[in-house]
Amino acid sequence: MTDSLSPHRESLLACPDCDLLLRVDAVPLDRECHCPRCDALVQDGGHYAIDLHLAAAFSGLVLFVPAVTAPVLRFTMVGQWGSNSLLGGVWHLWTQGEQILSLLVLLCSVVAPFFHLLLSFGIALTLRLSRLPNNFPAWLKWHRHMQGWSMLEVYTLGIIVAYVKMLDDGDVFVGSGTYCVAGVLLCLIICNQCFREDVAWRQWEQRK
Ligand SMILES: [Zn+2]
Repeated sequence: MTDSLSPHRESLLACPDCDLLLRVDAVPLDRECHCPRCDALVQDGGHYAIDLHLAAAFSGLVLFVPAVTAPVLRFTMVGQWGSNSLLGGVWHLWTQGEQILSLLVLLCSVVAPFFHLLLSFGIALTLRLSRLPNNFPAWLKWHRHMQGWSMLEVYTLGIIVAYVKMLDDGDVFVGSGTYCVAGVLLCLIICNQCFREDVAWRQWEQRK
């Protein structure tokens, strides 16, 4: 059983470096501010490009299904050809007895990026419409968790390494899945660069 704390009337923010609690409710969102104790950047003051965030999240969701199902590499070796998709690779690992590794790849390359994009889209859309749902704080928390587990860039590096290594052994062609994976990765990067969580929290506090 846990006790719930009563909300503070002022908006407080902990410095990311030294944990000093700072009052930020009087600081405009478009102003950069630093911690008075350690000079760490507490608020970057950048513009929250919400429409770009929304567009990037939507585009990422559209590209997601072909990114995980379309072939990423096609190759011809010793007279035989083959191809593999992201989900096909996960299944291949599973059937080779690498169940834990396949689940890890599934989590970091499929599940977390998908929910990261889905939550990004939901957050940006509800902020854009100024219609925040009651569980909006839970969305923000899950968004942060998914951000931590989303590692599609590692998979993209794996494609590049596999492509270079296989060039010596046969003919290798980049499949349409690779372009979609690169597109999803680009959308995730734009979402991360655009999103300002402090703006979302402040809009949640001021919703009524
Ligand atoms: Zn500090």
